Amino acid sequence: MTTSVRQFMCLTDNFGVLVHDSETGATATIDAPDARPILDALGDWVLTDALITHHHSDHVQGVPELKAKFPDLAVYGPAKEAARIPFLTTAVKEGERVRIGASEAIVLDTPGHTLGHVIYYFEKDQVVFCGDTLFSLGCGRAFEAPYAVFWSSLAKIAALPPETQVYCGHEYTKANGAFAATVEPNNAALKRRLEEVSRLRQAGLPTLPTTIAGELATNPFLRVEEPSVQAAVGLRGVAPAVVFGELRSRKDRF
Ligand SMILES: [Zn+2]
Repeated sequence: MTTSVRQFMCLTDNFGVLVHDSETGATATIDAPDARPILDALGDWVLTDALITHHHSDHVQGVPELKAKFPDLAVYGPAKEAARIPFLTTAVKEGERVRIGASEAIVLDTPGHTLGHVIYYFEKDQVVFCGDTLFSLGCGRAFEAPYAVFWSSLAKIAALPPETQVYCGHEYTKANGAFAATVEPNNAALKRRLEEVSRLRQAGLPTLPTTIAGELATNPFLRVEEPSVQAAVGLRGVAPAVVFGELRSRKDRF
């Protein structure tokens, strides 16, 4: 594998992520929460691309400063949010491919958190960058699309190969875990994950990346078809999208 990933913190709880293709030297930033930490994390890598997941300012506000430093920067972002992303050079949508040197990402539309939200799936490298659609033990708030639409987006991510490494937009795992534990207090995999999260946070380490398999075993928002999760919200045998909606609105009030 010639693709490597560098993850670091930006702002309060945003993740900065760089994807580097050692074959060509191409480097992409996933979103741009803040230019300074991204420039610091680059070291001797040259920034060639920015892959934007959605229009929220804590994901795009670093773009102008990065563009000033790297004028040839290619900025990819969701077609449906093109007008709201500074210096966008290529609008992308479902199924399109983005090349970072010799590495390649497939664009998946995942509306829900925002209407045009996209994620970037590097199939060969078995890694996906989910922005604010999926978090470890949680998911983004449904700001711009109905719950049923958001649920379809999560189901799409859940169907990726189980070994896929998952990177997300924020370090929210601990807070998400507190809610998840109220939904499935007897989930042994979740208990183990919460212990791991506690250890990592105490050591000042990130809880990401996670994996699709890990989230399928522990994340209540991907487990809305499980009888234990349905029972927790009093919706046994009800359609997954409805269970998801109930869970999401309870989390909003948690
Ligand atoms: Zn967001």
